[in-house]
Amino acid sequence: MKKSLKIMLIVLFAVSCKNDTKVELNKLKISEADIKAVVEYLASDDMEGRAVGSKGIDKAANFIEKEFESYGVKPYFKTYRNEFKVDSLDAFNVVGFLPGNDGKLKNELVILGAHYDHIGFNAKSVENDAIANGANDNASGTATVLAMANYFAQTKSNKRSILFALFSAEEVGLKGSSHLANHLRNEKMDMYTMLNFEMLGVPLKDKKYEVFLTGYDKSNLAKKMNDYSNSNSIGDSDIARKQNLFKRSDNYPFYRAMEIPSHTISACDLSNFEYYHHVKDEVSQINFDFLTNIINKLIPAVEKITQTATQEIKLSNE
Ligand SMILES: [Zn+2]
Repeated sequence: MKKSLKIMLIVLFAVSCKNDTKVELNKLKISEADIKAVVEYLASDDMEGRAVGSKGIDKAANFIEKEFESYGVKPYFKTYRNEFKVDSLDAFNVVGFLPGNDGKLKNELVILGAHYDHIGFNAKSVENDAIANGANDNASGTATVLAMANYFAQTKSNKRSILFALFSAEEVGLKGSSHLANHLRNEKMDMYTMLNFEMLGVPLKDKKYEVFLTGYDKSNLAKKMNDYSNSNSIGDSDIARKQNLFKRSDNYPFYRAMEIPSHTISACDLSNFEYYHHVKDEVSQINFDFLTNIINKLIPAVEKITQTATQEIKLSNE
């Protein structure tokens, strides 16, 4: 299934009433079939649950590299792989880069990230199934970042540069994201904001919002993204707050290393998904209609983040 992602091109023409000038909006939509192909591949038994050091995670990384290549997203480092060690095991983030189209703003970086590793055989076996496939956790987030990479590679609408980071070793202590965050800090890169995507494949229950932001109060990111996309998709979750999910995913090392607005967007507050770190976190659990919709809703907000003349996303002064 090495199908590369194809995007349906829908060109919409709109007339702006505000200033009487005609504005042409290019609207690329990411299709459900494309999202599904990525999640199915990454969560297949062939990937062995993508544990650090496994053959499966090596295959998963190869797949992500080929996807980047097919979109025209270049490696950020010499190769796509950003290598590090977890004890004696070889581990690697997969990092793509798309330069911004504005002479000045392209020096500022926006990071879109998700972990692609999972826990392999480290879950309780059920009915002879020993592989934790991690479809929701976090093939769904990986598919989200790849869809965004595909989108921006085609539209080239980002004024700021974008780094697409698929992290390894999240499940063993946020090691891949810490490695990359420390590297970027040492390089003194001009980091604007970091957005991390986790478990977006199963909808929340009885909420007014579709996804929540961890560390909601730490910056104005949720408010700005909702403004940018003219929606209320992103909310605040009590459970995320109580469970301190802000510190439990790959956004946190970037906040810690650089004190920039850095958050996780997720649809899993641990109350709406019974198969967290369970062998039944499989493709059959994923609601692809929901996942595709939310990706297509988030893209315009992310696009705006890469385009505003000034850095509007700011940490709160608490
Ligand atoms: Zn996760």
